[in-house]
Amino acid sequence: MRKNSHLDETLCVIPPETPLEGFASLAVPVYRASTIVFPDAATYRSRAGRAPDGYTYGLSGTPTARTLERQMSALHNAERAIIVPSGQAAISIAMLTVLKEGDHLLIADNVYPPVKDFAHDILINLGIETEYFDPTRLSDLEGRLREGRTKLAWVESPGSTSMEICDIPSIARLCKSAGALLGCDNTWATGLLCKPLDLGVDIVAEALTKYVGGHSDVLLGAIMFRDMDLYKRVRNTMGCLGVGVSPDDCSLALRGLQTLGLRLRHVGAVSEDFAGRLSGNGNYAVLHPSLPGSPGHEVWRRDFKGSSGVFSVQLDGVPAEVIDGALDKLQTFAIGASWGGTRSIIVPMVIAADRHVLPCSQTTTHLRISIGLENEDHLWADLEQMLRSLHLD
Ligand SMILES: *Cc1c(COP(=O)(O)O)cnc(C)c1O
Repeated sequence: MRKNSHLDETLCVIPPETPLEGFASLAVPVYRASTIVFPDAATYRSRAGRAPDGYTYGLSGTPTARTLERQMSALHNAERAIIVPSGQAAISIAMLTVLKEGDHLLIADNVYPPVKDFAHDILINLGIETEYFDPTRLSDLEGRLREGRTKLAWVESPGSTSMEICDIPSIARLCKSAGALLGCDNTWATGLLCKPLDLGVDIVAEALTKYVGGHSDVLLGAIMFRDMDLYKRVRNTMGCLGVGVSPDDCSLALRGLQTLGLRLRHVGAVSEDFAGRLSGNGNYAVLHPSLPGSPGHEVWRRDFKGSSGVFSVQLDGVPAEVIDGALDKLQTFAIGASWGGTRSIIVPMVIAADRHVLPCSQTTTHLRISIGLENEDHLWADLEQMLRSLHLD
């Protein structure tokens, strides 16, 4: 009796092996693991030989995470990708890996603002000096690159909220000749609309939180590389920091990827259509790289395959309370920051305080719009009504 119950306890702990043969599913399984077990002690002793791609410990990757990494890598014509807990983590982990005390970092003035926080709250304490540059003027970058000291330049195209397009291939050439790496945040475009590694970039970061996840419910990021040494160094940084990703989150991103092409095609077409209809009104500016004649339009046509669904309307001198009153009347758009989901969102952004080089007035508000999957006539009616409330129609 006593003996049997002991056996049952072991049976509870060790499930019977169930054959996978004949089970061919289209879904990527969610593999959970903290510990990875080894066939024998000698294999365990030599586990370091499995790095950087193999399985050694749950935090360093599961087959679910590896599948997402391989899919992201393929979409970017990369050699490898690493999945990290957020878009911001993709950027900060890349920077932490390639920069050390005494190095100089150049950041485009129009990047996702928390990147600047990372530079002046964290990197400065590590003895890394940050300078901002105007990504739309190559001469500005050229003047600030310090040969031998500038180890990394960081760009985002189009820029967050203000939507400037930069000439990535030319920037890559300047960086290369100064011995600096070039990193690029490609969240707006995703690998479907732009492949920065093909344009000369060394490190690509993306917030999968946005279009890849696509449903406003998961936070993840990815870093893509061609250089295997860079890849190994970033993997090592992840291990040192103790940072890994949940297979459940990876599973949501893998599901999101299935419909990424269709979703982007739709939101891109609607955002281009809306930007075209809104433009030409003298009371505000529409910032969308697809607009013919807009700054960077020709470079965008050369380097991007199309548009995603995020663009901005720039208002000058409209008081905050008037803007907020108009936004509060929106019926279909929601008010929120993290774009790229099925739900259309809009958010008022005052970016003057984030700017160091590019001009921006304190009285300028950008309405950043992310087109989702609702009926476009409903969305258009909502925008028209908003402009009427702003007395800008
Ligand atoms: C949202 C965003 C990020 C950060 O992504 P999180 O996953 O929210 O940390 C980085 N870059 C850009 C351009 C973004 O829009």
